[in-house]
Amino acid sequence: MLTNKHYTYDNMYKNNVSSILIDLHTHSLSSGHGSTDTITDMAKSACQKGIQVLGISEHGPATFGSAKSSYFRSLKLAERRRCGITILYGAELNIININGDVDLEDEILTGLDYAFISIHPPALTPYEYADLTDTYIKAMSHPKVKFLGHIDDARFPVNFWKLLEYAKEHGIYPEINNGSLMPDAYRVSGQENCRKILDICKRIHLPVLLSSDSHGRKNVGNMEYIFPLLDEYNFPEELIINHRPDFLWKILDM
Ligand SMILES: [Zn+2]
Ligand SMILES: [Zn+2]
Repeated sequence: MLTNKHYTYDNMYKNNVSSILIDLHTHSLSSGHGSTDTITDMAKSACQKGIQVLGISEHGPATFGSAKSSYFRSLKLAERRRCGITILYGAELNIININGDVDLEDEILTGLDYAFISIHPPALTPYEYADLTDTYIKAMSHPKVKFLGHIDDARFPVNFWKLLEYAKEHGIYPEINNGSLMPDAYRVSGQENCRKILDICKRIHLPVLLSSDSHGRKNVGNMEYIFPLLDEYNFPEELIINHRPDFLWKILDM
C-alpha cells in the first residue's frame, strides 16, 4: 500500500527491501559484457528478492559485443512469465550522434515493451559537447522511449530543468541509477547530479524510476545507494514508479 510517509534508509532498504517491486534496467549475457547469466537466472534472483516485474534492457547494437537487431526482433517470442514473475523486454538504446539518432530501427523498437535512451562512450565522445539536451529530446521521439538512462553522467552534460520539463510533457521518466552512485562508479558526478534530478523531479512532480542497472543476477533489485538520497530529499513515495505496477502499466500502455 502507498502511504504519504517518506522513505528512510532504514525502513526502505534494511527492513523492507521487498518494497521494490519493479526493476526495468538490467542486462543479461546478451549484453556481451559483465555477466554470463541468462534471463531465467535473473528472473530467479528477482523472484527471491520480491521483485514482481523484471525488465531486461540490453544495450543496443552500437555497444561493442551487445545483442544485434535480430535479438531484439525475437523478443516478441520470449516468455512473459518466468519463475512466477512478469518479465518485460526492452532495450537500452545508444544515442549515436548529435542529431539524436539511436541504434535500433523504429520497426524493431515498436515491438518492444519499452526503451531507455542512454549515452555511452564511444558512440559519443566524453566532454566533446557542452550541452546534449536537444540531442536527448530528438532521441525521445519514438513512442517506446519511456525512460531516460543515467542522465547524471557529467561527461555528457544536459540542462536538467529543460530536459525534465520536456520529459514531463511527453510522458517520459528519468531513472535514478544505482550504478551511477556506487563508490567505484565509472560515470562522473553521479552523486551530485542524481541529487539535482531528484530535487527538480520533486519540484515539478515528475515520477522517477529507480534502476539497479545490474549486469547479471547479482545486483538485480539493488538500490542501496539510492535510498540515502531519497531520504535526504524527503522524496515523495508517490513519485517512485517502482512501487506502483498500476502506474507502470499506464506508462507502457499495457
Ligand atoms: Zn547505460
Ligand atoms: Zn545499463
